[in-house]
Amino acid sequence: MQLLDYTFEEIEKIVLDLGEPRFRAKQLFEWLTKGAEFEEMKTLPKSFLDKLKEKGYTAQAIHIEDVLVSKLDGTKKYIYRLEDGNIIEGVLMKYKYGNTICVSTQVGCRMNCAFCASGLDGLIRNLTPGEILGQVVAVNKDNKEGKDRAITNIVLMGSGEPLDNYDNVTKFLDLVNSEKGLNISMRNISLSTCGVCDKIYKLADDGFTLTLTISLHAPDNETRETIMPITKKFKVEDIMKAVKYYFDKTGRRIVFEYSMINGKNDNVEEAQKLSRLLRGVPAHVNLIPLNYVKERGLHSASKDNIKTFMDVLNKNKISCTIRRTMGADIEGACGQLRRKYLKMGE
Ligand code: SF4
Repeated sequence: MQLLDYTFEEIEKIVLDLGEPRFRAKQLFEWLTKGAEFEEMKTLPKSFLDKLKEKGYTAQAIHIEDVLVSKLDGTKKYIYRLEDGNIIEGVLMKYKYGNTICVSTQVGCRMNCAFCASGLDGLIRNLTPGEILGQVVAVNKDNKEGKDRAITNIVLMGSGEPLDNYDNVTKFLDLVNSEKGLNISMRNISLSTCGVCDKIYKLADDGFTLTLTISLHAPDNETRETIMPITKKFKVEDIMKAVKYYFDKTGRRIVFEYSMINGKNDNVEEAQKLSRLLRGVPAHVNLIPLNYVKERGLHSASKDNIKTFMDVLNKNKISCTIRRTMGADIEGACGQLRRKYLKMGE
């Protein structure tokens, strides 16, 4: 049982059930949020820590196994080991305004998008709230350099479809947003989904006012079905209705991700279709040069095609940027590093 899975109120109950004074809960919660193992919790008596261990509790849910640092831009790629031996990965990107961590929400993914390494093995399992929070806590500890908090922004864009693990992901959001914890504002959190529409409505109804990012990658169902199998269940029109609902409820502008794939979705006609689809929608489009994944065999659109695509969107007054490639020298695409790491162990 991982203590990082629990809210402050739940920790308080555990502490009281063990016959300890209430104030120990605050101390324990603070140590957990700092990424401390039991041995590092200097203000807590050994007898209390022994009781926790006897009950089968562990402090940190994940452990950093390896870190790769980009020589180009300082981006760090993390490999984490979970308690059951599974391996997941994450990224820390350093920007002028702060540090953004990209977290995984599942081991593998069942959505099987045509360009993605994470879906190659299917879904292995969901991550618990503490395993998602553990990534933030561990990387925060690794990068604090004297500051209270190194992480300013979180993007749920690593391996896994966050809305396919709804309960654990939303508990993680509550935990990371908690004033008693890392206290990271919803405004600084982005959740990227391939378009699980029923859960987009639920996210809005449950009051999560984060930046919703839609992995769209095609402006029509025909093209999108060849890239993203989820399109068979939720059509582009369903996604547009769901994001309108999300915007009306939260007032947050929607971000659309569009990976530029050579010969698939990168021509002028598609740019025109995308412009029509997004007309009047409070949206921003990120055009992403595709990261090459050997097993998938798809290549990025050319620089010229990406630039022309952006010009069409701009002409149609759609806000749009081309995503800067970060950490290109250390295995770019999500899921790639994990697979490489697993192969090394074979
Ligand atoms: S792009 Fe996202 S939803 Fe699609 S397979 Fe990869 S991790 Fe899953």
